[in-house]
Amino acid sequence: MTAAPRVLVTGGAGFIGSHYVRSLVSGAFPAWPDAAVTVLDKLTYAGNLANLAPVEGRFTFVHGDICDGELLAEVVPGHDVVINFAAESHVDRSIASAGEFVRTNVQGVQALMQACLDAGTPRVVQVSTDEVYGSIETGSWDEETPLAPNSPYSAAKAGGDLIARAYARTHGLPVSITRCGNNYGPYQYPEKVIPLFATNLLDGLTVPLYGDGGNVRDWIHVDDHCRGIQVVAERGEPGEVYHIAGTAELTNLELTQRLLDALGAGWDRVERVVDRKGHDRRYSLSDARLRAIGYAPLTSFPDGLAETVRWYEDNREWWEPLKKRLNGPDEDASSRRGQA
Ligand code: NAD
Repeated sequence: MTAAPRVLVTGGAGFIGSHYVRSLVSGAFPAWPDAAVTVLDKLTYAGNLANLAPVEGRFTFVHGDICDGELLAEVVPGHDVVINFAAESHVDRSIASAGEFVRTNVQGVQALMQACLDAGTPRVVQVSTDEVYGSIETGSWDEETPLAPNSPYSAAKAGGDLIARAYARTHGLPVSITRCGNNYGPYQYPEKVIPLFATNLLDGLTVPLYGDGGNVRDWIHVDDHCRGIQVVAERGEPGEVYHIAGTAELTNLELTQRLLDALGAGWDRVERVVDRKGHDRRYSLSDARLRAIGYAPLTSFPDGLAETVRWYEDNREWWEPLKKRLNGPDEDASSRRGQA
């Protein structure tokens, strides 16, 4: 691959995709110092050009849908790499209404893989999630574990992964799949648990804790996730799956304690709410395959969380309009809304 690849980032205006774009165009990935970046994004409620404001003018933006084959036939040719972040990503929304999840996360992946095949794209990465495996009591999943998704979100992501795999096996499309744990960091939409809790606490509101709080998630800073994706894009085997594991397995009770501590609040600010339907108990990935090709995480959870909480403290102008839109005129609703 040249040092100046043309990179198409679909879903690049969301939380993780925008971090990847900000990193790439700022020179964070030394093998691709002069990448030319195109972002294609539908700008759903979760897509936000403000996420890309720090690097405005340093990429080309296309407003569009990964389900739109005609648009993809215009946009995809000429790119050396396509990295797909575009998805409906919120489990609670998929429980309330699953149609858009199947459209974007399955049909959209098919349309994108077909466009890459037609264009002869030399490198494709499909960004996915540990949730495709279901739930695991003890131990960790490796990349050969059968998929057993439990939510409409994870089932749709699993469908997209299987489509990507089929394009690799059937057509030889050079696509690799990455699967990662729960991300946190700046610019995360404030319906997900860490920004939801941090911003509620900053606003003097309560935070809604699901069920008994014993669900375990493996947290990773978005910067480590993006570095893992970059390792796969540069050195991963086409057709393979790579795990990007977190650095901190925590129950939601433990996570809540850390957020309360970070913001100087007590348990009186925690409201117990009825558990999410079908709530997976625990996710855990083994990332030996990715480490074998040179990946290691850099951000410890305590440092990453402290920096993230500070970012939400310092960037009210980014999240306040999003929370107003999320909650409507009833301000109290902000303490009851869903989470990751
Ligand atoms: P996000 O919801 O913040 O962003 C998704 C982006 O995709 C938005 O910019 C949205 O506008 C765009 N989009 C949605 N539908 C589209 C469509 N049809 N066409 C074009 N663009 C569309 O999500 P995120 O948290 O940044 O997640 C990015 C990817 O990483 C997703 O594929 C998700 O499944 C995966 N992932 C997320 C996590 C996590 O903890 N957030 C963990 C593992 C994997």
